[in-house]
Amino acid sequence: MTKTVRTRIAPSPTGFLHLGTARTALYSWAFARHHGGAFVLRIEDTDVERETEGAVLQIVEAMRWLGLDYDEGPIHQMGRLARYHEVAEQMIEAGTAYRCWCTPAELDAMREAQRARGEKTRYDGRWRPAPGKKLPPPPAGVQPVVRFANPATGHVSWHDLVKGPISIANEEIDDLIILRPAPPGAGGDAAAFGIPTYNFAVVVDDMDMRITHVYRGDEHINNTPWQINIFRAIAGADAELPQYGHCPIILGEDGLKLSKRRGAVSVTAYKEAGFLPEAMLNYLARLGWSHGDDELFSREQMVQWFDGGHLAKSPAQWDPAKLAWVNAHYIKQADDARLAMLAHEELVRRGVGDQRGAADFGQFEHLEHLARAAALFKDRCSTVVELADWLSMIFVRVEPAAADMATHVTEVVRPALRTLRERLAQLPAWDKAGIAQAMKESLGAHQLKMPQLAPAVRVLVCGRAQTPSIDAVLALFPRETVLARLASA
Ligand code: GLU
Repeated sequence: MTKTVRTRIAPSPTGFLHLGTARTALYSWAFARHHGGAFVLRIEDTDVERETEGAVLQIVEAMRWLGLDYDEGPIHQMGRLARYHEVAEQMIEAGTAYRCWCTPAELDAMREAQRARGEKTRYDGRWRPAPGKKLPPPPAGVQPVVRFANPATGHVSWHDLVKGPISIANEEIDDLIILRPAPPGAGGDAAAFGIPTYNFAVVVDDMDMRITHVYRGDEHINNTPWQINIFRAIAGADAELPQYGHCPIILGEDGLKLSKRRGAVSVTAYKEAGFLPEAMLNYLARLGWSHGDDELFSREQMVQWFDGGHLAKSPAQWDPAKLAWVNAHYIKQADDARLAMLAHEELVRRGVGDQRGAADFGQFEHLEHLARAAALFKDRCSTVVELADWLSMIFVRVEPAAADMATHVTEVVRPALRTLRERLAQLPAWDKAGIAQAMKESLGAHQLKMPQLAPAVRVLVCGRAQTPSIDAVLALFPRETVLARLASA
């Protein structure tokens, strides 16, 4: 019988879902779905000082938006403190962990001396029990930490799902702290059980949650030897470990690590900038994974194709132009009513309904109307924000640029604009066919050509000289708005 695939994503609640975390979440999710397994959301919240309010909600909301549905969770590590304590006690009992009473000052002095001797700084094992070794009596007034007794010899080796075989000598790694006393002032479980460190809590969780495959960022490669050793110390030398896959970091446009200081790195920021979740998923998937030459694919295809193979070993570079291209593709494909709703949300965020000149917003809020507008403009947009820019001209007073006025709204055209305004005012029905007819008649009456009149109408009504077909565009506006804007010529 083969084991059920179980994957997880384990973000720390530091404020938002990072793009890099979203990408490994996507791989973990797709891998679980591909194999009919389970995907778990775990919140690594033991680093209490860094947790910000609402951060978990942000993560959950970003996962929901991306459609990365999880089968279990969110499971909070802070709710499992008794369990980590229990495992640490069992390890002390078994001799794979021990208490260490070193004070911070002592540890500083230890490192200082090592540096002075030109050695690598590391815990020197002074409280590590050994046969025949006599330990000093525990000092009064010091709360001990628990350290893992890392194997002194041999190697830790694993076949990384992304990087291939990796092997580290145990001599390279020291006895890591796995459990600390709670910080002063903490109450409840923290005071009773202490706080686990990342490498320990991860192992206990991956074990308890029966995680079979771990995809995460390669900044964790150096943690993996500890995790494997701790896992074996708890579950036995022959225990079946999760398989680890470490994905290279995402580089920014400047070739440096993608970071908050140099641009948006949160999933939510891209939502607000008008990207569609399916575009984000598609783009993130390709940043570090490939399926032949396919650039555009659905989430169903991704699930079908993602078997853990073809993950890139070298870092991918964030490419805003490509993301915009992918998003433009999905905007073109998107249902008009859905785009209308998204653009409407954006307009409301801008306070469009509250502005002078936007009196008709309420009347034209009807989805059907906005959907018609979305259909007309979506081919020209690479984000929902750009679509909202187009739609806002229907509701908000436009201010044509003086240069456009001078170029297009000339004395030659003005009489035709007046005629057009009169004809439009008299149209029995306000629709595209009627508007086209009125345009044609106005051109005929003044012996002008469409390329003379249309740009003038566009500049006055839309505030820009280029738009889709003018009759279709004018039909989106309330008639009074068009008449008023033409009168300003
Ligand atoms: N909390 C860790 C992070 O956000 C999770 C690492 C892991 O997946 O083990 O980087």
